[in-house]
Amino acid sequence: MQFRDLQKQYKVLKPQIDSAMMSVAASAHFISGPEVKELEKVLAEYVGVKHCITCANGTDAITIAMKAWGVGKGDAVFVPDFTFFSSGECPADEGATSIYVDVNQRTYNMDPVKLEAVVQKVIAEGKYKAKAVIAVDLFGLPADYPSLRTICDKYNLLLLEDGAQGFGGNINGKMVCSFGDISTTSFFPAKPLGCYGDGGAIFTNNDKWADLMRSICIHGKDTSNPNDPNAKYNNIRLGMNSRLDTIQAAILLSKFKAFVDYELADVNKVAAWYSEGLKDTSLILPEIKEGFYSSWAQYTIQLPADVDRKNLQAKLKATDIPSMVYYAKPMHLQSAFTGTDSANAGCPVTEKLCATVLSIPIDPYKTKEDVNLVISKLKEAL
Ligand SMILES: *Cc1c(COP(=O)(O)O)cnc(C)c1O
Repeated sequence: MQFRDLQKQYKVLKPQIDSAMMSVAASAHFISGPEVKELEKVLAEYVGVKHCITCANGTDAITIAMKAWGVGKGDAVFVPDFTFFSSGECPADEGATSIYVDVNQRTYNMDPVKLEAVVQKVIAEGKYKAKAVIAVDLFGLPADYPSLRTICDKYNLLLLEDGAQGFGGNINGKMVCSFGDISTTSFFPAKPLGCYGDGGAIFTNNDKWADLMRSICIHGKDTSNPNDPNAKYNNIRLGMNSRLDTIQAAILLSKFKAFVDYELADVNKVAAWYSEGLKDTSLILPEIKEGFYSSWAQYTIQLPADVDRKNLQAKLKATDIPSMVYYAKPMHLQSAFTGTDSANAGCPVTEKLCATVLSIPIDPYKTKEDVNLVISKLKEAL
């Protein structure tokens, strides 16, 4: 069994995807072709924000937002301790200090009560300026934005939504990537909406930041005269080279249709089969609160403390069931942060999760038989 079956998805979508790729090849408009603009329009509309700016990957998307906000030395940026490395890497790369915040054990997302305590501590110590929060929609589930927004407003913090894993999710109909002052996502192949390589996007309602970020994506070019062909060689700031290839935009346009037509509903069906089939076990299952809708980037369970995870994974593997550990190490314990103030986080929930979590195969193309097989092999291995 595949952990996330991208080959099966391709088999189903082959005619549309092949024709999308071939038409870009035929047009030879490989960079900034019309499909890129079209995709930005479609995604902005879907998410319900004014601007979508595509870029090279989800990591660049966060970095570009940090640059637009002028995040840098002396700033504290609050990041969940349980996440993929980029969420804390990007602010630190800009010279800011990532301050790690513990998460909720059942949703895996940043704990708003703990965020407020950490923000108050940083403000009281006075060493850093409390500048921004990077909230992550881990495993597909939107973070607790109603509570996070209240705290950001109270302490005058900018809110970035790292929606790399959450695209397609929502809270009471309000879409992922609409919750941040700026929101970002990734189109890495294994994400809920993936392309055939690297890709990312940034979302905001703020016109000024949108202009600035478009400029940063293309070497800091002057974007004030889009119709002047020479303006693109007028560089008014330092930027990056971060664009989504036309071929990836074309692939995403055709995959997006399947994503909204049935993939999101189907992956939720798969998750529901798991939750039903595993409910009478000693496992702790992911919790989706009332009003929240996940795009299920992962289905992540927690093993009882006395279960040897490595051994369990080996038993599953012997029966052709792949499993992954997302994530084995809290952010504050990553060696890249050793000796910095980022290493001084008290995050007992994250430490416990890192020792007990296990992600099992999920994607919209799994059948009831696939799920039943995983459930029975998992029960046997336990
Ligand atoms: C994948 C991921 C990123 C980075 O996206 P890339 O496109 O791989 O650069 C950032 N944050 C989170 C939470 C992710 O899962």
